[in-house]
Amino acid sequence: MKKVVVLGGGFAGVEAAICLKKYGFGVTLISDRDFMYIYPVSIWIPTGGINPESARLPLGKLSAVHKFDFITDEIVKIDGGANTVSGKKSSYNYDYLVIALGAGKANPEGVENTLSICGTPAESIKIKEKVDSLIKSGKGSISIGIGGNPKDPSAMRGGPAFELLFNFDYLLRKKGVRDDFELNIFSPMETPGKRLGDKAYNMLNELYENLKIKKYFGKKIKRFENGGIIFEDDSKLESDLTVFVPAGSMHKIFSVSGLPLTEAGFIKTGDDLAVEGGNNMYAIGDSANLEGPSFKGKQGHVAELMARTAAYNINEKEKGTRNYKGYKEHVHILCIMDNGKGATYIRRDSKSEKIIYLPVVGHWLKKFWGWYYKNSKLNNIPRIPGF
Ligand SMILES: Cc1cc2nc3c(=O)[nH]c(=O)nc-3n(C[C@H](O)[C@H](O)[C@H](O)COP(=O)(O)OP(=O)(O)OC[C@H]3O[C@@H](n4cnc5c(N)ncnc54)[C@H](O)[C@@H]3O)c2cc1C
Repeated sequence: MKKVVVLGGGFAGVEAAICLKKYGFGVTLISDRDFMYIYPVSIWIPTGGINPESARLPLGKLSAVHKFDFITDEIVKIDGGANTVSGKKSSYNYDYLVIALGAGKANPEGVENTLSICGTPAESIKIKEKVDSLIKSGKGSISIGIGGNPKDPSAMRGGPAFELLFNFDYLLRKKGVRDDFELNIFSPMETPGKRLGDKAYNMLNELYENLKIKKYFGKKIKRFENGGIIFEDDSKLESDLTVFVPAGSMHKIFSVSGLPLTEAGFIKTGDDLAVEGGNNMYAIGDSANLEGPSFKGKQGHVAELMARTAAYNINEKEKGTRNYKGYKEHVHILCIMDNGKGATYIRRDSKSEKIIYLPVVGHWLKKFWGWYYKNSKLNNIPRIPGF
């Protein structure tokens, strides 16, 4: 039985490990955390909408259900020439390697003065503590920023920033203190959210207006300071709590591993997701250079699409066929953008764009998705396409 090592226990790595095991490979998943952090539902940790534990999918339990091996280790180098990866605890050999380590973060100077919802669960809990203490004090200013990676617009992540902003607005209104708070959104991009399509972009602008959220767009971030954000023109946005959603960039181990990288730091692959010039090596999810329509974005469902495509292609390669599948033509935007009391379904592909506002039910649909994602994986229930 050929041995596949999958690096990273996020959307991409988990889906790849499950699919490869189904094809009959010996699979070892290696990740630095013993749980998958389900980012789409983690947006409710800062507002107390979920218990932080429910955003964790335990990888040990998952591996027992799907019968692959799981090792907790931090990978420090990939040696494609020797078919080996090195971790802090040990080295691992493979016949096939799937790289699903996510991305690094494009962080401006002084980022330690901000908190992020793209990191660890502990950081999301810190955001909650800070918001709670501001509410207790009766007033404050909260600013949410979306970073860019000028070398690759697909690495920018607006969705969670919009969701957190609207959830904060709803929380403050529920507590009856919205008028005592200033809510701001900032980004170096002129039109963040535009890639979701014109309808969604217009909806965002209407929401900022109606909810009295101040926007600071098209201004480069010079640095973050304790108490605010300094823009390129040296103006300062005062902020008691700054939550920053950085764009993706190169994962730190890629450069020391001699992998073929784009200028933005993502691994170059073909449409079949095999690493360019690599030997039995595949890259998927946020680690890989994403190709597809101009409005493409690195998303969880795209990471899963890449995982299924790579697993299929590895199996075909092993069978000795060249019957490979590509992923690019299937890339589209799909998002349920939550605001705490409802959500907007947004879908954009090359032919059309749709937005449907779902009051109340939309919020519970997204919550149900989180529950279903976790429990269907832990109980080996076949995936419902689209979920
Ligand atoms: C707050 C938030 C909300 C989001 N909401 C949505 C949404 O609603 N819909 C959607 O489609 N997408 C959403 N996304 C995007 C989506 O979560 C990502 O695109 C997706 O997580 C990418 O999956 P991945 O497996 O490639 O990377 P990741 O999820 O980042 O997983 C990488 C894995 O590798 C592990 N790892 C990293 N470095 C090492 C190392 N050196 N050694 C070993 N292991 C390592 C990490 O612990 C992690 O398990 C959201 C993202 C965020 C941050």
